[in-house]
Amino acid sequence: MAMEYKDTLNLPRTDFAMRADLVTREPERLKKWEAANLYAKIQASRATAEKFVLHDGPPFANGDVHVGTALNKILKDIIVKYKTLRGFSAPYIPGWDCHGLPIEFKVAQQMTKEFDAQWPKIRAQHEDLWKNTTDPVVVEAGIKYSFLQDYLSPENIRSACEKTARHFIGVQREQFKRLGVLGDWENPYLTLNKEYEADELRMFADIVEKGFVYRGKKPVYWSIPCRTALAEAEVEYADHVSQSVFVKFPVVGQPNTFIVIWTTTPWTLPANLAVAYNDKLQYVQAKVGEENFILFRGLLPAVAEKCGWTNYTETLFVAEELAKLQYQHPFCNRTGKAFAADFVTSDTGTGFVHIAPGHGQDDYNLGLKVGLPIYSPVTDLGVLAPTNDLPMNQQMPESLIGKSLLGKGGKPSEANEAVLALLREKNVLLHQENYHHSYPHCWRSKTPVIFRAMNQWFIEVDHDKFRERALDEISRVNWIPDWGVNRIKGAVQSRPDWCISRQRTWGVPIPFFYDANGQPVPDPQKNPKAAANVVRKFAKWFEEVGTAAWFSTDNPTILLTKSGAKEFIPAGVELSELKKSNDTLDVWIDSGSSSRAVLKQRKELQHAGKSGDEVWQADVYLEGSDQHRGWFQSSLLLSLAGNGAAPFKTVLTHGFMVDADREKISKSKQGGYEKPQTAEAYVKKYGADVVRLWVASQDYRSDIVVSEERINKVGETYRGIRNALRYQLSNLYDFDPAQHTVADDQLTGLDRWILGEFAKLEAEVLAAYDQYEFHVVYQKLSQFIAVELSSVYHDVIKDRLYTDAANSPRRRSTQTALHRLATGLCQMLAPILAFTADEAWEFIPGNPTGSVHEANWQPKSFVRNETESQLWKILFALRANALPELEKARQSKFIGKALDAKFSMEFPKTKVERGMEHLGSFLTLGDWAGLEVNVLASIETNRILQELLNVSKVEVTISDSVTAWKFNVTKADGQKCERCWHWETDIGQNTAHPTICGRCIEAVLQLKG
Ligand SMILES: [Zn+2]
Repeated sequence: MAMEYKDTLNLPRTDFAMRADLVTREPERLKKWEAANLYAKIQASRATAEKFVLHDGPPFANGDVHVGTALNKILKDIIVKYKTLRGFSAPYIPGWDCHGLPIEFKVAQQMTKEFDAQWPKIRAQHEDLWKNTTDPVVVEAGIKYSFLQDYLSPENIRSACEKTARHFIGVQREQFKRLGVLGDWENPYLTLNKEYEADELRMFADIVEKGFVYRGKKPVYWSIPCRTALAEAEVEYADHVSQSVFVKFPVVGQPNTFIVIWTTTPWTLPANLAVAYNDKLQYVQAKVGEENFILFRGLLPAVAEKCGWTNYTETLFVAEELAKLQYQHPFCNRTGKAFAADFVTSDTGTGFVHIAPGHGQDDYNLGLKVGLPIYSPVTDLGVLAPTNDLPMNQQMPESLIGKSLLGKGGKPSEANEAVLALLREKNVLLHQENYHHSYPHCWRSKTPVIFRAMNQWFIEVDHDKFRERALDEISRVNWIPDWGVNRIKGAVQSRPDWCISRQRTWGVPIPFFYDANGQPVPDPQKNPKAAANVVRKFAKWFEEVGTAAWFSTDNPTILLTKSGAKEFIPAGVELSELKKSNDTLDVWIDSGSSSRAVLKQRKELQHAGKSGDEVWQADVYLEGSDQHRGWFQSSLLLSLAGNGAAPFKTVLTHGFMVDADREKISKSKQGGYEKPQTAEAYVKKYGADVVRLWVASQDYRSDIVVSEERINKVGETYRGIRNALRYQLSNLYDFDPAQHTVADDQLTGLDRWILGEFAKLEAEVLAAYDQYEFHVVYQKLSQFIAVELSSVYHDVIKDRLYTDAANSPRRRSTQTALHRLATGLCQMLAPILAFTADEAWEFIPGNPTGSVHEANWQPKSFVRNETESQLWKILFALRANALPELEKARQSKFIGKALDAKFSMEFPKTKVERGMEHLGSFLTLGDWAGLEVNVLASIETNRILQELLNVSKVEVTISDSVTAWKFNVTKADGQKCERCWHWETDIGQNTAHPTICGRCIEAVLQLKG
């Protein structure tokens, strides 16, 4: 009876699909993880393990997850998953930054729109308010404004902001989960939580008590549209056209003699109180017609050219005379003096700097030094106005009052225009031109910011040698990449005192009070302990009722009584005469306090077995490279001041997602073609695993270029990985590791070879993960899968897997190797291909854990001795040289398949002994050390080569009679076996199976038996 030998082959089979279909398969796996409560299960199983804490920097809860934020979260997740696999207890508590300008700005805009829409209805209900007036239009506008103010009350704004924040936390949570990020999503930390706010204020109280906090008038960045001070990190630089002017300041007592100053902010001239010069420079007096101009000699030619002085003479100006100069303000009724200052440079301007202590850092410092008032005649709304710092008659002329600093609707600044008109009128404007430069802008409104002195709360960076202590602490932290240490040191070295108050509603209130003169009661500088205790009382109260209580009333007696802070107000102070602070804390204090509110609070983050600060310090912080100015710095400074130590041991930094033209892919970019910016757009198109693989493939330490081409290339790698896993799984369907595993020393040479290579790979991959170099993991893994696995091993073992008897030692040996490879690969891939590795894991026979993310990855060593490794190196060298010969024979139609061939190799004995340098770079003398020449000609070696070349027979001879090596392809002897297609000479020996070879007979009989 004829038999279908095809049915007797061990052909591969698996339900692990070839097509990834990640877009539908991944959400199903997410549901499975959720149903199994995977995160909690993993944490429980690691309850007593060593702790590894990566502390999450909180993103703003104000939009969809940006692709750059996805990069950040995926990198964090790779680390957490890797550490978990290696046996650590690595909890991940995600966080959100909920307060701040971005949300409040958006909410206020939205609410104003809503109010406008409702206005006709409100108007109709309140017509009686203005029906008897003579000018209904004006009255309506006023009434509308007062209704709008009610609508935009702090309480309304805050509840709308909270609603917005919570909405986006929900949206982002789902998007982060969709990326495969595992964490305690049900218990994240939110900076708007009562407990968080209370801990933040307790941290603040500690810093107050230590004497860091003071109220002072200092220049700060001020955003006019947002009506608030801005932190350094909230300022962006952008191109701007300023008015560059050269102005003459008449010298008192010397008619027709002028100091020449240069400025690019004419609106600061009303605030001018002095001029500065550099006493290391040589000044001259230039005579132009009837006028004399004093300026730095080195800049005279440039100034002369600008001002059109074609004919002038110069005489040296005696240095001692500079200090005696007194000038008349060009349009205010006051005089000023000249002071020496190092910051006056010799490269631009005139060598004289106009000094307005209320509008510049250098100016402020000089003003303090020489006793000038910190005068800033600008209101919160950004218009010029007199102040109480100078007598009224010495301040700006009426024509300047009320002029706006910002131009409206593309028009130039009103204030600049008015100042220029006055300068012209007084005949003191020497030259005026447009000046293009990079100028600080508000990150929200995108308008130029002004530098403006005002009363704010500050943390004094140099208090008690704090700056030096911070720099010391930075040196103790591990910064990766190592340039991070210089970046943060630079930022800390140069930073001014930290302005921590904001004139906003959506934030944590600064619970302080002022007397009638605006002095804080109690004053943190004079009585830090009492001030700290006031803050602590409010912290406790807010923990119960929330910070909204602060905004519910302006009555200080109620606030101080309900909070219990009353007891720390000095005796004799009438509570009702105090005024509550309207400031909130800088949002960088919110997120920067997470060391207190999260690291020290959450039980699961404590390092058992450690002592001192190491109990709560995080092992790793990982954020973008802009955070050296931002969260890294605020966290470090606050934790060091408040907790006494840095909050982190290692700080990792990543670059940004950039366009091919290397522009940062930013949320606020407008106009023209834009790449998708949300993570969701990429996930929906490629699946999360491809996005994750793409993130891993890039060296994140520099910027990452977003391009379809790169993602597609990674997509191909993904398919290669998936196919390799599928091949392995499809040949394990009848393998039970408990029953069939072959001991290492019983494995065939080929299997020992691949496991040896794999052990090397595993060591390299582990080292790369430990150094957070995921692109190296990607390179090593993808290279190994493409070359050693897919184009060599998987190809060569097909014959033995399919045609050997199912239970033959050779097939079981190879299955043992495949089982180890699949297990190892899934573990290596799991941190990156979170979904696919877990999917494949389920198909590996005999797996002890349900999910790969619960596995404990302990690398198995696999040792080959030197001789064995050498032999395999030689065999692969022979294969590389032989394959082209086979290809030639096939091309010339001498043979059909490689299996039709017999391959003969003949080597001269003397040359083999000397190392066969003929085989080119593949073999060297060293490769032969210790190897017997005869090994090459042994039957065992011939069989291996036969498999490696996939031919029916290989014959190696070593002979004295040839002088050069010779390869020869001939037709194989015997007949073609119907089952395995090998040509064999033993076909026909079994009468029941006359068309198949001896090996196949054994396989078929075993199947029957
Ligand atoms: Zn056969």
